[in-house]
Amino acid sequence: MSENNGVQLQMNFGKNTDENKFQKQVYSAEFTILFELPAPSADAELESTLKRLSPLIEFINSPKDLPCGIAFTDSNPDFPSYPVLDFAAAVAPDHRDSHLIYLSGRGKDEETIAGFFAQCRLEGFKNIVCVSGRPSLKQNKRVFESVKMLQMNMEHENPLFTGAVVNPYKYEICTSIAQSLHLAKKARAGASFAITQFGWDAAKLQEIAWQLDRNGCSIPLFARQMLLTPAAAMELCSGNYPGVRFSKNFQSALRGEMQLSTAQFLAAQWKRFQLNVAGARFLGYSGIQIGGIENLAMAKTAYQMVQESFKIFPAKQDWLDAVKDYYSQMIIAPYPWRYYLFDNLLQPDVSREDANVSREPIPEPISGEMFRYKLAKILFSQSHLHPAAERRLSKKLIVSCKGCSQCRLPLAQFQCPEECPLGFCNGQCGEVDVSGKCFLSDEECVYSKRVRMAVALHEYKFLEETVI
Ligand code: SF4
Ligand code: SF4
Repeated sequence: MSENNGVQLQMNFGKNTDENKFQKQVYSAEFTILFELPAPSADAELESTLKRLSPLIEFINSPKDLPCGIAFTDSNPDFPSYPVLDFAAAVAPDHRDSHLIYLSGRGKDEETIAGFFAQCRLEGFKNIVCVSGRPSLKQNKRVFESVKMLQMNMEHENPLFTGAVVNPYKYEICTSIAQSLHLAKKARAGASFAITQFGWDAAKLQEIAWQLDRNGCSIPLFARQMLLTPAAAMELCSGNYPGVRFSKNFQSALRGEMQLSTAQFLAAQWKRFQLNVAGARFLGYSGIQIGGIENLAMAKTAYQMVQESFKIFPAKQDWLDAVKDYYSQMIIAPYPWRYYLFDNLLQPDVSREDANVSREPIPEPISGEMFRYKLAKILFSQSHLHPAAERRLSKKLIVSCKGCSQCRLPLAQFQCPEECPLGFCNGQCGEVDVSGKCFLSDEECVYSKRVRMAVALHEYKFLEETVI
């Protein structure tokens, strides 16, 4: 790690990065700004979209003190968007190694994923962020998990530079652990960097970085920032943004800002933005990804705000004092969920080597869980090697078998992966409710159960290594 005036950035030596600008920036610890650009809706007029975006693209590509790039994302699953790779190819005829393309597993299979990777190589895009993707609630709910995409990529003779995403803003004990173990699994499967969900709690940004370190798979991290409009702030406060929750206190602050003039509302957003950006830098993040940028003026202001934040907070202590002051009247964590994996986060002169693990006990398996696990282990220890229909009735009685075509029980701690409505086998999705319940049902997320079991059995490999 490089260390300079309280700034620590993850570095990674010994890799040949000559031909990939973004990768080179990541490995040489250059704080990088990624501007998020969602693909337009499928029926948008591409030519006019390109014309509208051209000044913005020109600005992003122009030489500047801080390296910049574009993160091409696809948009709302319920509103089909222009294929993200085609959009990126149209928008970025050059500088393609500065940019990232999000690959969503929504509605994809192995063949389409392989095709996407091949097309990226052909087109000269080198940096991909693999996400399982939020399923369309109107269509088939299944997604192709990101960890499998990462693994597929690494098996290729010419792998692309791939990253993953994580939602560190979880405040319930089992979900906090499940998220960090899932990211550890992605790192082991080939993610070379990760981008967080957006949020404002700097302690959570530090927590995920420390936890990755403890898991022995530290990778460079990018903190996603979101520039809010009053309408977006309203959506957030109404709880309409899956996976993003914060306290009533913080909601009141946002609602208060919505009552102000537009200029005052924006000033409040930029102030919080600068605090977050400085935090990301001082916490060792490799850069930020900014969402909500709609035009050249916003991009220019954002860039300027980032630069300014470096001057406003020249040392880590300045930033820590400002955070303490800003949030002294405002807790961000949503009551009653206030769990942090470490109890000395955001302390002066404390580095990840000095991290104190929280002493809050992890809940034990609840009544019957351990019994069912032991019974399933005796009866179904080879079930992944036999036809799925074999012993269907006993599987139904003991592990609530849903009757899929390929049994994976022994690889999933004898917890049927089909219990997850998305069929996730490899880790918890980022949209799990803050209470630990599944965001698609009123049941506890299957990964919270698996965390309890893993802790009780001291057996973490299924959650942080095994890819199903
Ligand atoms: S993985 Fe689950 S649904 Fe599939 S056969 Fe095994 S127990 Fe049944
Ligand atoms: S069970 Fe958990 S991982 Fe599956 S969809 Fe629900 S919250 Fe996400």
